[in-house]
Amino acid sequence: MIDNLLKATIRDIVDFPKPGIVFKDITPILKNAHLCNLVIEEFATRLKEVHFDVVAGIESRGFLFGLMLANHLGIPFVPIRKEGKLPAQTTKQSYDLEYGSATIEMHTDAFEPGARVLIHDDLLATGGTVVAASKLIQQLGGIIAGYSFVISLDFLNGRQRLLPYSNQLISLVS
Ligand code: AMP
Repeated sequence: MIDNLLKATIRDIVDFPKPGIVFKDITPILKNAHLCNLVIEEFATRLKEVHFDVVAGIESRGFLFGLMLANHLGIPFVPIRKEGKLPAQTTKQSYDLEYGSATIEMHTDAFEPGARVLIHDDLLATGGTVVAASKLIQQLGGIIAGYSFVISLDFLNGRQRLLPYSNQLISLVS
């Protein structure tokens, strides 16, 4: 089973980036090309019934498998980035963090209005980032087709926060 393989490969870094956080390090997966292919095939299989036109990946670890998946499916990949990084015209969305706030952006021409967008990130924690990404995509006229994550930390209830946007959520490890 791929989840056991992934669990054995993902590295837990205790107290990173601050005390009390167990950081899920996916870089050991990236060192294994075969496992990367298995991840993409698993996403593609489990997303077969979810119809989407474009994959939107969240900076920065969402770019890794997000781009691989889009490429595998032969569809466009578009980046969701932190404020001030994208060069052309953008639309912004701010959201609250534990301390302070953050802003994410997308190019206004990332996709056509009415496009069905799959949002991808490496990990779902509280869901705050992905809720902001969902609002951003809706602001640009996109439809949230679903979500894909390598990991979801289900004890943080991120899934529930995403339900108003889409009930299609794939996570390989929880
Ligand atoms: P959240 O907005 O709380 O769902 O946080 C999700 C974002 O923070 C994702 O982009 C993750 O990459 C990152 N993140 C949050 N918690 C962790 C963790 N324990 N390990 C690795 N990344 C994390």
